[in-house]
Amino acid sequence: MEVIRTVKVKLDVPAERCDDLHQTKNQFIHCANTTAEWAWRHPHDYCVTSKQKAENALYEQLRGETELTANLVQKGIRRAIEATKSGVSRLKSGDNTSQPHFNAWSVVYDKRSATFHRDHVSLSTVNGRVECDYVIPDDAEGTPIGKYLLNEDYEFRMSTLQYDRSTESFYLHARMRRIENDDREQSTASSDTKHRTVLGVDLNVDGSLAVTSTGAFIGNADEMNHRRREFEKTRGSMQQAGTRSAHLSIQSMKDREHRWMRDELHRASNQILKEARDHDCTHIAFEDLTSIRNRIIGAKRFHTWAFGRLYQYVEYKAEMVGIKVNQVSPTYTSRRCSSCGFTHESNRQSKHQFVCQKCKYELNADYNASKNIARKLLKQLHSGQKSSGGGAPCQCALTSGTLNLNGDFHASDFASVEGESTDKPTTSVVGH
Ligand SMILES: [Zn+2]
Repeated sequence: MEVIRTVKVKLDVPAERCDDLHQTKNQFIHCANTTAEWAWRHPHDYCVTSKQKAENALYEQLRGETELTANLVQKGIRRAIEATKSGVSRLKSGDNTSQPHFNAWSVVYDKRSATFHRDHVSLSTVNGRVECDYVIPDDAEGTPIGKYLLNEDYEFRMSTLQYDRSTESFYLHARMRRIENDDREQSTASSDTKHRTVLGVDLNVDGSLAVTSTGAFIGNADEMNHRRREFEKTRGSMQQAGTRSAHLSIQSMKDREHRWMRDELHRASNQILKEARDHDCTHIAFEDLTSIRNRIIGAKRFHTWAFGRLYQYVEYKAEMVGIKVNQVSPTYTSRRCSSCGFTHESNRQSKHQFVCQKCKYELNADYNASKNIARKLLKQLHSGQKSSGGGAPCQCALTSGTLNLNGDFHASDFASVEGESTDKPTTSVVGH
């Protein structure tokens, strides 16, 4: 017996690609309505209920009138023919009905027009493919998403893309079919099912030294800067004295500073490791550290040194517990909204304040950046995956759990109620 479940999952559509989906829907509906008009001939004639006849008559024309792929044009025609068929059967049973008309926001996708993965879907549109991450709730276990969408025992079948005007959100209504034992043997058991969770770390030259995607504010860069300034001031005045005892004092002061700094960096690295372990992370992501001084305003040589040292500490401590540490490109990590993906420099209100100009998401700018850093590594890990039939689940570690590639906590439940954002940076605030 075939077991099919439909799972509704919110999609995280890149802001600049939303229009491509809307245009795709408009053209898909144009195909369906054109077909319905052509096929519906009641009461003067028999209605056309053959998909093949409809395709023969309309396919060329609709390909010319739209920018849709062959598969989506075909799906539009078929959708209209299905509706025509059920209209005809209603007429036969004496019910009153009329020519089908399509205006609902809905597009049919199958494996030829979409590539379904366990954490995102790639959709064919009027303007190439659009990659959309699923918004997986942090407690998906026991919900339809956990039971079917993320379950390797189920495979994707023909699904529909829908849009909710009230929340301005796209949803995939994924039809999941249970894989029977005999099909399972055909699909090899070699797919990578390893779970991946990434902790993002943003490093700063003021405020907190490190901010994680779990909302931990670690270390005190301000204090480091203050000590460094004091040290340099004292050294400067001692150097002027030029005596041998002054030289020795400078040396011992230098050693003391160095020890203090190293201790601080060890403490910070331990804290980062603890966050990673507490959240079952498999990876820790940092920004690329090579051009810190060109990139971060106010970054000095000792910051470059401190960041490099901190990275080293994290790297070897992580290795001991089997966690991988990687660097990702810092491009846009401070400008991108970790909630909706909108990327603009005006989102960055001040050094530590982020307000998304599109969705009004407001949070600590470094915390926002750390979530984007985690997401970047997830994307990299994901694109490195070989398996095609839906890969390993990839997640960012956050305060209140884990979530999908785009770090969106909003309206991720099935009732599409706008959920409270629970990922406030409230835990493990240290270093002050
Ligand atoms: Zn936003």
